Amino acid sequence: MESNGNIAIDGPAGAGKSTIARLLAERLNYLYIDTGAMYRALAWKALRKGLDLTDESGLSRLAEDTEIMLRVDPEGKNLVYCDHVDVTEDIRLPEVSRNVSLVAKVPGVRRRMVELQRRMASSGRVVMDGRDIGTHVLPDAPYKFFLTASLDERARRRFMELKQQGHAVTLDEVKEEIRMRDHTDAKREVAPLVQAPEAMLIDTTGLSPEEVIRMILARCHGGGKH
Ligand code: C5P
Repeated sequence: MESNGNIAIDGPAGAGKSTIARLLAERLNYLYIDTGAMYRALAWKALRKGLDLTDESGLSRLAEDTEIMLRVDPEGKNLVYCDHVDVTEDIRLPEVSRNVSLVAKVPGVRRRMVELQRRMASSGRVVMDGRDIGTHVLPDAPYKFFLTASLDERARRRFMELKQQGHAVTLDEVKEEIRMRDHTDAKREVAPLVQAPEAMLIDTTGLSPEEVIRMILARCHGGGKH
């Protein structure tokens, strides 16, 4: 691969991005960067402080004053820290999921996050997943993918995940939360969720992670968009 070998993976909630990105990074010995976790960490802090989530300047200031760190522990688990507090579990709480899109649509918040994300990707050896990676954060990434799946399948996957973690949610609630979140993410003014024209579209409905990874690696070894 060339010196900029970054891989951008975008797509709606529950399309399998984080599972695929994590496995792919492991396989390639790349760094995995979960940008959604960064927005979640900020939303978690805003909720904890009881901030008004429609106050854009308050949220932008919060983003400037917050230190968000992604780390991998010795067992290979991805950890998320907000101001040096481990928030890995808390950022997956339904309350954070329901509100994160409101925080993520604020231009000042995005400016700050994108700056951090670009710095993290400067090695040229990252797999980064999110909503605007191929279009906005890393427009020069040579390998871009857009993962999707039917709403039913995405809701089912997220529901199983949450149930396994012991959260009391119904499938209908999860489906509604995902639908709302995708709507806000796709309709926002700054860097909305949209497929980069050069990204390879993969519908993961009915595919195993291994099958998706094989498709991605075939494309990377074939030279990406070039
Ligand atoms: O990836 P995940 O579902 O954890 O992302 C949570 C939320 O963070 C998304 O619904 C979106 O509002 C926001 N996000 C974003 N841009 C990214 C990654 C996530 O706006 N690059």
